[in-house]
Amino acid sequence: MSKTVLLATEKPFSAAARDEVVAIIKQAGYTAKVLESYKGKGPLLEAIADADAAIIRSDIVDQEVLDAAKNLKLVVRAGAGYDNIDCAAAKAKGVAAMNTPGQNANAVAELVFGMMVYLARGKFNGKTGGELRGKTLGLHAFGAVSRAVATIAKGFGMTVFAYDPFVKPEAIKEAGAEPVGSVEELYKRSQYVSLHIPATAETKNSIGKKLLSLLPKGGVLINTARKEVINEAELLEVFAERADIKYLSDIAPSDATAAVIKEKFDARVYVTPQKMGAQTEEANVNAGLAAARQIVGFFERGEKNFIVNP
Ligand code: NAD
Repeated sequence: MSKTVLLATEKPFSAAARDEVVAIIKQAGYTAKVLESYKGKGPLLEAIADADAAIIRSDIVDQEVLDAAKNLKLVVRAGAGYDNIDCAAAKAKGVAAMNTPGQNANAVAELVFGMMVYLARGKFNGKTGGELRGKTLGLHAFGAVSRAVATIAKGFGMTVFAYDPFVKPEAIKEAGAEPVGSVEELYKRSQYVSLHIPATAETKNSIGKKLLSLLPKGGVLINTARKEVINEAELLEVFAERADIKYLSDIAPSDATAAVIKEKFDARVYVTPQKMGAQTEEANVNAGLAAARQIVGFFERGEKNFIVNP
């Protein structure tokens, strides 16, 4: 029987990317359903009811959504992080969850440099700024985004360190960064530290005073990873204690933290007005098409690569 694939994007893909995703679904002989820019959970609960598979972005797939999905076998997060899917609940219902790792890595990496240059040039205030060349950059985790950052950093003439206990030091070296032995060493040696860890039980709230205090004078923390990894109370403490520390983020902090930043530390912080990391035409297309192809591969050939809740 023909499958129904739902593309549910509260924050839609570009029209071109959406159309290409729909084309792949239709080419496989499946029915494509598109739910875009919806408000509240209701429309998703309704649309997912008869879907065999769903492609989502930051859309929340929790127990309630899974319960509403009577035929669902597979949900694919078009992107890297999948903390918006209740993976255990999905597994309990026999629903496989996948992500599309690496597809938006270059988009995020370019944003890292966009923000670094913007800050180094005093937010384009007309005054003398600084350059990135010759500076040290520490990559906290060494996955797909970090590799793309390391590649670009070479062109900028930066010295790149990386810390990732799950990646072999030789692999880090091969990708153009110098592996360091501990997370503390990374923060001590890097004028810029760029976060690329996933939000896990271990990493949540893990970036706080202990690490940030180690940054050298003028240290800059860059967060294009996840809000949850930052200990916001301690970040504000470090800001209050050290007038030299700066923060760049693609992820808005909580309203309370944002209010304090605006009042006291605005000049030293830049936060994108909306999460922008993966928001490029190219990344939309890459991640959306990968998701659609993974769904076809799963149903037609039993392909299980990229399942994150085995
Ligand atoms: P990835 O899965 O390729 O890499 C993650 C890396 O983190 C892995 O190499 C893993 O070994 C490492 N890691 C896990 N736990 C660690 C720990 N405790 N200490 C050090 N390293 C650890 O993921 P990615 O595609 O590179 O994405 C990285 C982060 O960026 C994720 O948090 C993802 O959600 C986020 N992201 C954000 C955007 C955005 O729009 N801003 C877009 C894509 C990805």
